[in-house]
Amino acid sequence: MLIATQTMLAMRCPSCGRLEYHMLSRFDFADGRLVQLRCSCGSLKLMATKKGREYSIQACCVICDSMHLFKSKGSLLWSLRVTDLYCPDTGLELGHIGPWQKIKKTKEPKWISCFMSLREKIFSTTAK
Ligand SMILES: [Zn+2]
Ligand SMILES: [Zn+2]
Repeated sequence: MLIATQTMLAMRCPSCGRLEYHMLSRFDFADGRLVQLRCSCGSLKLMATKKGREYSIQACCVICDSMHLFKSKGSLLWSLRVTDLYCPDTGLELGHIGPWQKIKKTKEPKWISCFMSLREKIFSTTAK
C-alpha cells in the first residue's frame, strides 16, 4: 500500500465562501498537536488532531454554522483515496481531503454556488 506524507484539503470557507486548497502533512500532527486551517480571510475552516492511529477532524459547516466531527484512520487519510467531508444534517458536501491529483479534479457540487449567491443576496439586503 502506498502511504503519502502529505495530502490536500479542498474546502469552501464558511464565512467568505472562497474555495481554497490547504496542504496537510503527517508531521503537522506530531506530539498530538492541534492543526488548524484558516482561510486567507482569517476564518477557521478545519481543526484536526491525532490520537493513536485515529484522526479527529472538525470541519466548519457552511450551512449549520457549527462544526462537524469526522474520524478517520491514518491509513485512509494518507492513502490515495479521497475522504469526503459532508454535513450530517443535510448530507451536503463540505470539502474533500486527498491527493492533489485527485482533489484538483473533484467537481464542486452545484448547490454550493447556488447557496453562496443566495447568501450574498441575503447579506447584501440585510446590510442595507
Ligand atoms: Zn474566508
Ligand atoms: Zn452542517
